[in-house]
Amino acid sequence: MGYMHKVFLSGPEIYTCSSCGTHLALKNKIASKQYTGQYGRAYLFDEVANVRAGEADKRNMITGMHIVRDITCMECNNYVGWTYVTAFSPEQKFKEGKFILEKALICDILRDWD
Ligand SMILES: [Zn+2]
Repeated sequence: MGYMHKVFLSGPEIYTCSSCGTHLALKNKIASKQYTGQYGRAYLFDEVANVRAGEADKRNMITGMHIVRDITCMECNNYVGWTYVTAFSPEQKFKEGKFILEKALICDILRDWD
């Protein structure tokens, strides 16, 4: 992590923070839509931008024990999802280093003008 400056993503469709509009991820970077967060449907991304990660926390999830960090928008500090640090089960290892954004907390914007 360690994004010190806000970056602007360029792509046909971008997910932004729903409260301040900061760019968070490109729609074409979605790895999976089959996730559930605290607020319902959540998406798994290979990479996101403009977030800060909180303290590592051990959590027992539907898919087993994981060490995760909540991620917040670097602009407004709102919670938007989490990132997987460690997955203990071998079949969940692919999630390490990936990010979850909660659908209810992000907006989908079209940028077909550039
Ligand atoms: Zn924000």
